[in-house]
Amino acid sequence: MSTSSVWEARALRARRAAVIGPYSPMFYDEPLHVVSGHDVWLTGSDGVEYLDAYNNVPHVGHCNPEVVRAISEQAAKLNVHTRYLHEPVVEYAEMLLATFAPYLDKVFLTNSGSEANELALRIARQHTGATGVLVTDFSYHGNTTALAELTTGLPVKEPLGQHVRALRIPDVVADSRPEHVVLAEALEAAAAAIASLRAAGHGVSALLFDPLFSTEGLLQPPAGYVEGLVALVHGAGGLVIADEVQSGLGRSGSHFWGHEVHGIRPDLVTMGKPLGNGHPLGGVVTTTALLEEFGSANLYFNTFAGNPVSAAAGMAVLRETASRELQSRAAELGRHAREVLDKLAAERPSVRAVRGSGLFFGLEFVDDDGGAGAARAKWVVEDMLRRGVLISKIGPRENVLKIRPPMVFEHEHLDLLVDRLTASLDELEQVEARGGLRSGSAAPDVAGASAGTPDIGVSTGLFIDGRWRSGSRTFDVLNPADGSLLTRVTAADESDVDDAVRSARRAFDGEWGQAAGTARAAVLHRIADLIERDADRLARLEALDIGKPVGQPAMLDVPNAAATFRHFAGWADKITGSAIPTDGYFGRPTHSYTVREPIGVVAAIIPWNTPLMIAAWKLAPALATGNTVVVKPAEDAPLSILALAELVQEAGVPAGVVNVIPGLGEEAGAALVRHPEVDKISFTGSPEVGRQIGRVAAESFKRVTLELGGKSPQIVLADADVEAAVQGIALGLFFNQGEVCAAGTRVLVHRSLYDQVVEALAGAANGQVVGDPFDPQTTMGALVSQEHLDRVLSYVDRAKDEGARLVAGGGRPRGEGYFIQPTVFADVARDATIAREEIFGPVGAVIPFDDVEEAIEIANETEYGLAATIWTRDVSLAHTLAHEVRAGAVWVNGWAAINPALPWGGVKTSGVGRELGWSGILANTEEKVVTIVL
Ligand code: NAD
Repeated sequence: MSTSSVWEARALRARRAAVIGPYSPMFYDEPLHVVSGHDVWLTGSDGVEYLDAYNNVPHVGHCNPEVVRAISEQAAKLNVHTRYLHEPVVEYAEMLLATFAPYLDKVFLTNSGSEANELALRIARQHTGATGVLVTDFSYHGNTTALAELTTGLPVKEPLGQHVRALRIPDVVADSRPEHVVLAEALEAAAAAIASLRAAGHGVSALLFDPLFSTEGLLQPPAGYVEGLVALVHGAGGLVIADEVQSGLGRSGSHFWGHEVHGIRPDLVTMGKPLGNGHPLGGVVTTTALLEEFGSANLYFNTFAGNPVSAAAGMAVLRETASRELQSRAAELGRHAREVLDKLAAERPSVRAVRGSGLFFGLEFVDDDGGAGAARAKWVVEDMLRRGVLISKIGPRENVLKIRPPMVFEHEHLDLLVDRLTASLDELEQVEARGGLRSGSAAPDVAGASAGTPDIGVSTGLFIDGRWRSGSRTFDVLNPADGSLLTRVTAADESDVDDAVRSARRAFDGEWGQAAGTARAAVLHRIADLIERDADRLARLEALDIGKPVGQPAMLDVPNAAATFRHFAGWADKITGSAIPTDGYFGRPTHSYTVREPIGVVAAIIPWNTPLMIAAWKLAPALATGNTVVVKPAEDAPLSILALAELVQEAGVPAGVVNVIPGLGEEAGAALVRHPEVDKISFTGSPEVGRQIGRVAAESFKRVTLELGGKSPQIVLADADVEAAVQGIALGLFFNQGEVCAAGTRVLVHRSLYDQVVEALAGAANGQVVGDPFDPQTTMGALVSQEHLDRVLSYVDRAKDEGARLVAGGGRPRGEGYFIQPTVFADVARDATIAREEIFGPVGAVIPFDDVEEAIEIANETEYGLAATIWTRDVSLAHTLAHEVRAGAVWVNGWAAINPALPWGGVKTSGVGRELGWSGILANTEEKVVTIVL
């Protein structure tokens, strides 16, 4: 897409969002902006012609000239209310009925498939006097509220109606047991469902099903299943409704109507827009007896369906279908497709089966463990868009490709489809070999990656109110190891932030705010379980996104995140107050006690260096105490937090309790901080931004926790174990490329050990293996971005200019990516820039001291106060120094001994407040005192 067409499309999307809202979902994060169509092609505003192998609505092709002519001629002549007598509607009804078995001799025209299904259900209720309905699981019967309660397939809030029983369709492809066993079990389940409807007093009014089981993932039931089901329903006095919106008009190749595939006699057949080639037309075909019975008892007007223009479109579709022999062509093309795809599938372990028949087929993906390969299916759908072919995916696990082209598809189109699909599957294998795709759970409602964007298998939308959605813009996420585009992530704008905060507010005012501590604990444990289950994937995402060696998040960030959720799960039902004795009230005794209550909506703003862990540090205590949260990940590294949002969703955390909105700091971050419905801001990041946030918080009296930068000292006393100290100092300098708030970058060494330590540290720096984050030998990866690399390099230059002695590193290794050498400067003046300012890179400054007093003086002569390390064997000196160093955390003979049970935070410019441990509970609650005058 050219830049201008991208912006035009985005502007249109923003206008659409303004007037239509986000509730009408679209395909692809960067939706395809189509401007015209013909035959099997759609043209985008980018000028690209896309092969439409998905959209069955233009049954005889986009803008089919015969249909267009029929419509125009009729529209130029007459278009009236259906309550006048006119010819086209009668003629169309005659033509349509001629395609059905003679006993189906009446048609009631509607505008859509939804309307048709509603009418069919009403007819069934009227006839049977019962209300119970049997449907097949994960069905899609239309979008009206009445129909929504019949399906488990839509992300709707309505539960299945009390009068509905959903049947799981048996599938002989996936079930290895003998077919008769599968059949018997499935029919028994149907009989039990009927019995339960009767026992509940609903009776059985109808079975409503799609004969090709399209939405269920083109399942293949055992021979005799559909016939058996129909017999059971008829035996129970119910009617059978075949929903042919997707399966009719010759699509299966073998028969004109889907129910004929099974040789059954439905009582009602419902159809939708393919009848009119996409124009509003649907219908119910049934028997004279049923329609008369219904008509005599009901006043049921159709609206304008069957008006002359729609009828003209319908006739043209039937004429085209017959004259071009589209059904037999579908049979022939379908056979050919099956052959080619079977071969393709046989060579790919990721494809379990080719499903469907005629011009309605799909590939079913599995993951390496044999589970549903939803991520693979999603990746292929997005990749095919990039290759100019439109397909979709279906099934409850969204792991079946849905290929359902218009019926005018030709051999050459099929060849093109297969070629591109083959290329896509090849590339998928390569991406997986590079470790770039997760396997596992189902994709979100609104898929992330945009056209032309590589899909790395993580949702890239906004997670608001328990659902994924796209926004009006995206930002690029780059791979620090080579500068390539990893993916594009939706950037929340002010209105998205508002939606997220409002959803958090609703959730807080709703059940979550009242949930028992044990219930909150259970949720936190579930999240921890899922983090542990997906540990590898999360570590890979961190390595990919931030450039750190994959072993480091596997060892620290991921287990620490899980441990943090578990730690706070433990607190959730132990958040107590105290009873406080006083001397009473005007001579009367009192009983006073305190309670700790959640604060409300917490905004959690996360930096890029250890995003998963810091998100856990904020989410876990906030949720344990009953708050709701809006998380804003950093624009440089949002991926692991998006994966965490997927786990939050999978853990069943109620909608709105956790919202994740990636976006730019100055836009989404600032809007979140300003939002009047945010009660607390928990920020980790730079002092500059922390200062701005502190100002906003002060103005609005929001509660605030600020975890800011550091310039932490590592003090090596004369009696230290030098070997252990050097190891610990090297860790404190180079772990996570030095992109650590608590990095021990000021190395203060007693003069007696100075030369020894400088030499050993230079050796440790030179011994680091800098390179590919996924190579197990690597100990130091890339810095997060070009901008950050430039910043760190500028400090190195500055240090040289200011006269520090370079003893290791100081430059960049060869090659692409934002790599820098581990760097050590000795003889750094106490007031030098690199002794004062936070560099946030692998650059150490070694400074000598002569006695303990001087060591303390240097340690404290910084605006920061996050952490400090003391290397000594003298216990009493350790305690004395620990007391005198001004820092939030002091470690003796170790670096960064962090733990979710220990409070974390800094003094001075390093921040305000504490998180983790009991302090984390205090920081997320308000204390209320209650006094009862007795
Ligand atoms: P940053 O301050 O640039 O960004 C942090 C977060 O704030 C990001 O999500 C960013 O988008 C957002 N943001 C930026 N401008 C904003 C605004 N005007 N309003 C609201 N949000 C805004 O910091 P960074 O570069 O991501 O992280 C590095 C810094 O974080 C370093 O200073 C480091 O020491 C500090 N840090 C501190 C700790 C700690 O626990 N004390 C831990 C990790 C990192």
